[in-house]
Amino acid sequence: MNILIKHIADYVGQRVTIKGWLYNSRSSGKIAFLELRDGTGFVQAIASQADLGDDVFSRVTSLTQESSIIVSGNVAAHPKKEGVFELQILSIEVVQLAQEYPITPKEHGPDFLLNNRHLWLRSKRQWAVQRIRDVVIDAIYEYYHQNDFIKIDTPIITPNACEDSTELFAINYFDEGEAFLSQSGQLYLEAAIMSVGRAFDFGPTFRAEKSKTRRHLTEFWMMDAEAAYVEHEESLQIQENMIVHIVQRCLEKCRQEFQILERNTEPLENIRAPFIRLTYTEAIKRLQSLGSDIQFGEDLGNDDEGLLTENEQVPVFIHKWPKAIKPFYMKIDPENPELVLNNDLIGIEGAGEIIGGSQREDDYETLKARIEEMGFKGEEYEWYLDLRKYGSVPHSGFGLGLERVVRWISGVEHIRETIPFPRLINRLKP
Ligand code: ATP
Ligand code: MN
Repeated sequence: MNILIKHIADYVGQRVTIKGWLYNSRSSGKIAFLELRDGTGFVQAIASQADLGDDVFSRVTSLTQESSIIVSGNVAAHPKKEGVFELQILSIEVVQLAQEYPITPKEHGPDFLLNNRHLWLRSKRQWAVQRIRDVVIDAIYEYYHQNDFIKIDTPIITPNACEDSTELFAINYFDEGEAFLSQSGQLYLEAAIMSVGRAFDFGPTFRAEKSKTRRHLTEFWMMDAEAAYVEHEESLQIQENMIVHIVQRCLEKCRQEFQILERNTEPLENIRAPFIRLTYTEAIKRLQSLGSDIQFGEDLGNDDEGLLTENEQVPVFIHKWPKAIKPFYMKIDPENPELVLNNDLIGIEGAGEIIGGSQREDDYETLKARIEEMGFKGEEYEWYLDLRKYGSVPHSGFGLGLERVVRWISGVEHIRETIPFPRLINRLKP
């Protein structure tokens, strides 16, 4: 019977067939140990010269790393390790004998690995990170559907900026002139929720930012969520509940992956709502008292985010920032016209900012004035202003960076390992 390694525990004592690749092998005399992978997991397969005969056995021991093979054998529980299973090989078919594989178990530099990303993806750690990424995506969909949000797909080719307009990738768009790759689907989601109430999107977003950090990609996947009649405080609750849900699902489903990554899961087990809430004003005071030279009105740097979360067990919301350093669409704080009702969510363990969100300005005149203040042309945003003319309601939303979350949960150091084919300012290939 053809099976996937993932289900091997159900087949103890039976003969099965596994279609996969040779990950690793060693032999000692008349016995060879093959580590087999099939995409769903890894299993040790044992070949014995006595069972297979000289010819087949010598073919087995000359198999190269990453050769594609189909192996049949009997499944047995490991004599000592609980939950581990082995395959006693009865026959083997070589689909393709791989050429000498460039990625060996020895250490390679990051450039070499990135140049070989198409192959590096097969390594155990990379496999584990991509599996975690899938569980995070699935958990996000699940959370939203359980909470009455529907998925709305927003466009990638857009006529204008949503975030910092210096970070746009421009493309030629026929007779329409210049168009831009989306930095966020937010503005479109705001239109959609006036139809469907609560919505989220999930797609690639693009930032032509020259940030060379371990947290920035030029192409990354963002989940935006938006909800009508949801105000600032409730938005924070949605954000923390979603993060708790994602972490719980990963803890349930990714035990093997965390083991491979040697990720200590204790900090994840301690994640529960409510998260810490600090106003921007409080955060600046605290940072100054901790020795940072940050001034009121400045954006938080990486070190500041680290300082604020250093001794915390749960992520930290920093909310109500000065409007001067935030985008035009954020709602002015009714208690202080210099501030906006927004939040960043800063992860623990050096994760940095994982979510940025706000209540949106729902008053026509205020929003129009803000757009003009920012120097944007009013007519480009006419459709967006329309939303404030026809049944405007208080509403809030936020954007979560998928790779930032995967980086934190999987514990890998650099964001480039969290996306199958990273795009960085100095890397476009493969
Ligand atoms: P940062 O200050 O870290 O550059 P930002 O303030 O530019 O982030 P937002 O515009 O609020 O980020 O975007 C929402 C979310 O998208 C962020 O909280 C983060 O998780 C993610 N994000 C933003 N820029 C990037 C990037 N270049 N690479 C990966 N994820 C990103
Ligand atoms: Mn940025």
